[in-house]
Amino acid sequence: MARERLYLFDTTLRDGAQTNGVDFTLADKLAIAGMLDELGVDYVEAGYPGANPIDTSFFSERRPMHARVTAFGMTRRPGRSASNDPGLVALLDAQADAICFVAKSWDYHVRIALETTEEENLASIRDSVRAAKAKGREVLLDCEHFFDGYKANPAYALACAKAAYDEGARWVVLCDTNGGALPHEVEDVVGEVCKVIPGDRVGIHAHNDTEQAVANSFAAIRAGARQIQGTLNGLGERCGNANLVSIIPTLKLKPEYADKFEINVSDAALGRIVRISHGLDELLNRASDRHAPYVGESAFATKAGIHASAIVKEPKTYEHIAPERVGNKRKLLVSDQAGRSNVLAELERIGLSLDKDDPRVTRLLDEVKEREAIGYAYEAADASFELLARRMLGQVPHYFDVEKFDVNVEQRNNAKGERVTVSQAVVKIKVGDEELISVAEGIGPVNALDLALRKDLGKYQSFITGLTLTDYRVRILNGGTQAVTRVLIESTDETGEHWRTVGVSANIIDASFQALMDSIVYKLMKSGAPA
Ligand SMILES: [Zn+2]
Repeated sequence: MARERLYLFDTTLRDGAQTNGVDFTLADKLAIAGMLDELGVDYVEAGYPGANPIDTSFFSERRPMHARVTAFGMTRRPGRSASNDPGLVALLDAQADAICFVAKSWDYHVRIALETTEEENLASIRDSVRAAKAKGREVLLDCEHFFDGYKANPAYALACAKAAYDEGARWVVLCDTNGGALPHEVEDVVGEVCKVIPGDRVGIHAHNDTEQAVANSFAAIRAGARQIQGTLNGLGERCGNANLVSIIPTLKLKPEYADKFEINVSDAALGRIVRISHGLDELLNRASDRHAPYVGESAFATKAGIHASAIVKEPKTYEHIAPERVGNKRKLLVSDQAGRSNVLAELERIGLSLDKDDPRVTRLLDEVKEREAIGYAYEAADASFELLARRMLGQVPHYFDVEKFDVNVEQRNNAKGERVTVSQAVVKIKVGDEELISVAEGIGPVNALDLALRKDLGKYQSFITGLTLTDYRVRILNGGTQAVTRVLIESTDETGEHWRTVGVSANIIDASFQALMDSIVYKLMKSGAPA
């Protein structure tokens, strides 16, 4: 049976740009548009020409892409003709393949927000669609507040959608603008709309205010809609938009959808979706959600020993899809609940195959358990685990010694008479016969220590120039004067690899020092620095 075509419309660059704390530059927008094109979405809604200089310049020239570049804007203002509305004229002049108009479809909003009549709003929809079609653009109409509007006045909401459809709009998109609709409501309403407008002309635009934007999108598809609007990583104002990074794998990998529908995302592109999702986080300078479905680092992580041994025998026992399909990895966590199979699987992952009865496996397991009992967390510190394992096997070269370090924190008045706190670290290390002393100031004691440690490693310096710390987390493990501090550090380098290291001590500087040292030694080891 031929599969039906389903279209993906991405609005990361328009609705996603409404996210609190997100500000795209033109370069960001072009980079993200490239990622979306690589993924294979059908439409890239890139912004609102005329609304701000960045969006205006995005649309000032053709942006050659496979996806249809879409400009967003309002239908003509009430009481004006299409040619006499500067906003609409800017939209029509934008270098875009398609134009997505937004229009009110809730009678209450027409009266209160637009301060116009229901009939004038319908005329504005018709005129705007007609004007864009006359310009040769493909036209979409976003029916704002459609589900709330439909509840209040179904005939009017439908009339708005129908006005665009009758005028030749390619898509009429039903928007749950406030994000409060529930899946069964969406399914009912979309079903009603599809009796009047063919489903292959109907789209869904869901917001995530009840954490059901993805479910609502699928409810609309079940009811007949054939276009899904969403964003990468569910970016969007308030609680975000429907997350295409969750929707795409479900469409491609779940037989209920995969057998029925075809999308423009290839299997190869699906295999890059982890990289694309994390690439966006990287660009936004945000930590990726470890628990994100399909793409999170923990999406295929298993902790308990009994599950782990079953997973090693037969992955399907505890996984709903094969992680490789989306470019993710199976991860068996090494923890104090760990059985031998976890440790063996982790060793395998880092390229060390030992026989399961090898006494060194028992020794490593005992060591991990002992250290976890005093606060180390190897499941969150892959690089420290690897160092522990390789040290036991004598595979970690002895690069350098830290003879001593000294960190001080001083509070004083600066030249302007302001109160400032300054940290300084002095580190004395020995590389072979060479003694090196480095001094650095930092915004805090750990920062100063990190800078001093990495300032001069003598002959190893060139191996660590690309090393940067991307995250530093402190956790106090038990209260009172006996408190133990655990420090987790995430590092990255010029290859884009991320690794995590851990340190534990009653003293936060000591704990940080251990984690910093592990990070540096790991980097030297993986860069193949000679002993
Ligand atoms: Zn929206």
